[in-house]
Amino acid sequence: PEIKLPTETPKQDKLYDGLLAPGFEGGSCLSRYQSSLYRKISSHKPSSYLVSRLRSYEDVHKRCGPNTKPYNTSLKQLKKKSNGKTSTSTTDECRYVVWIANSGLGNRILSITAAFLYALLTNRVLLLDPGKDLPDLFCEPFPQTSWLLSNHFPIKTQFDKLDQKSPRCYGSMLKKTSNSSELSLPSSYLYLHLGHDYDEQDKLFFCDEEQSLLGKVAWLVMKTDNYFVPSLFLMPSFQQELNKLFPERETVFHHLGRYLFHPSNHVWGLITRYYQAYLAKADERIGIQVRTFEPAGPGPFQHVMDQISSCVFNEQLLPRVDEHKPIVDISSSSGNPKLKSVLMTSLKPDYSENLRSMYWEHPTVSGDLIGVFQPSHEGEQRTDDKVHDRKALAEMFLLSFSDVLVTSAWSTFGYVAQGLGGLKPWILFKPENQTVPNPPCRRLVSMEPCFHAPPLWDCKEKRGTDTGAIVSHVRHCEDISWGLQLV
Ligand code: GDP
Repeated sequence: PEIKLPTETPKQDKLYDGLLAPGFEGGSCLSRYQSSLYRKISSHKPSSYLVSRLRSYEDVHKRCGPNTKPYNTSLKQLKKKSNGKTSTSTTDECRYVVWIANSGLGNRILSITAAFLYALLTNRVLLLDPGKDLPDLFCEPFPQTSWLLSNHFPIKTQFDKLDQKSPRCYGSMLKKTSNSSELSLPSSYLYLHLGHDYDEQDKLFFCDEEQSLLGKVAWLVMKTDNYFVPSLFLMPSFQQELNKLFPERETVFHHLGRYLFHPSNHVWGLITRYYQAYLAKADERIGIQVRTFEPAGPGPFQHVMDQISSCVFNEQLLPRVDEHKPIVDISSSSGNPKLKSVLMTSLKPDYSENLRSMYWEHPTVSGDLIGVFQPSHEGEQRTDDKVHDRKALAEMFLLSFSDVLVTSAWSTFGYVAQGLGGLKPWILFKPENQTVPNPPCRRLVSMEPCFHAPPLWDCKEKRGTDTGAIVSHVRHCEDISWGLQLV
């Protein structure tokens, strides 16, 4: 059935100022050219350089992607068991970075984005391990080709086993040598361990010296759950290119996220049906994402409920209720009462039930009418369960359509929503000792995601350093003191 589109949306370029390539056949991926109808016009335009680099990336991906001649030739190299010195791969027509799926959906979206930017910077082609459900969740982003590895990919059976102890793990190879330039790089592939548990040697990935070695290997395979983009901005070899690509630094995920992630038709159905039924008619849409990382368990928690209320009332995101009046007579009030729809997402139903009851049982002091809606309450994280992940993705997108957004500290789920929406959210700080933090929340300065596990290493001086204090545009995150964020 044809999806009814929002009626009162300002006209926005469906290609986001050239970010998206035109000419995809529409029906197989409705979200690609429809998502702009649900979003406010972004005040951030992609640079013309980014647009032209994306078009040339698409050409390279089409030329080198799965089932092309250069790809098949390169696969032969990958299948080699020998550990001999690598051929000088400057002759390789196509080089690749393979991203392996692990972790929750928010982390996956952010780490794919980081891997894509790395591919763009190093002239590689990004290919994804589809894992259990990526193809079910997303459309293909690049025209006339695929970013998914097939099930017959030669080393696919080894993906699960790849870790810091693997012989082809770059970090573990570095541990065995005193001089990395003497390393005998394998001719097939190198494994890069960039997960949150990576160690000092793995982190040398973020040093220019190591990058020039990695450049010689045609296949880089990486496992990561991190948004490592901020650290790329600290590498001298990438700086000039990054400045040209992103003159506005805090828009990296905003643009690349909108470019790469188009929900499949199943998920787009979840998104648009929910939007039309519960959100479209509101004068204002407020998204509240509640994610707890309490040692005491999954909750619900009274202190989290209290934190949400103090945040939205103190910051005047939602009106207070008048517990003493039975009714506010809207017809006699001088103001113009508004309909505000709150979209709440959480694994638990309790927070939104609480808010909804409050606004039913009492009138607001402003006379505004508040509807509170929560699409799902899945109880617990069940990553890789198809229906569960579809709902998670739908909710990230629905949150991104908000006018005002409140998110939870530490959560990549919230980062995705804020970045796609181009929104600076109010962040609910992580509570300590089950008490409401003071202040309960604060408006973020940057809409960029936080890199939770950055290296703290000065590559040139070869010693530890505070990487959040080197340049003004890469700072410690507002929600995680040791994380790194672009501002
Ligand atoms: P993070 O752990 O908050 O950084 O976010 P991730 O997305 O990486 O992992 C959390 C996962 O838990 C999500 O992907 C969902 O599978 C599930 N989840 C957490 N919060 C919600 C929610 O509000 N709604 C839904 N549908 N799923 C959620």
